[in-house]
Amino acid sequence: MFEYTLDIGSRMGNYSQKMLKDAHKHSINNKDELADSYLCACFHCCTLFAIEKITEWTDQETGLPTALCPVCGVDAVLGNRSGFPIHEGGFITTMHKHWFRDAKKTKKK
Ligand SMILES: [Zn+2]
Repeated sequence: MFEYTLDIGSRMGNYSQKMLKDAHKHSINNKDELADSYLCACFHCCTLFAIEKITEWTDQETGLPTALCPVCGVDAVLGNRSGFPIHEGGFITTMHKHWFRDAKKTKKK
């Protein structure tokens, strides 16, 4: 099955803060959206994988389930149906830097 890990930091795209913020919303309660997707990407471990790989879900009790990454187990999965360019290596690595690397430094929550 298709799986591909991106080299973090190899390519950075020019994406707006708003776009990165909006994309993050699609990583939560995204079961319906992912059901229509054929390609998913995790912006925590920066891996691209087929939708069939997702077997674990969280947030079942609060409404729509949220996908957990089959590789790292973090709820940072986006589907191609989200409308964001997850197939662009630069987008996922930029998301990773924005939400995980930078978040660690500033510790804002
Ligand atoms: Zn992952």
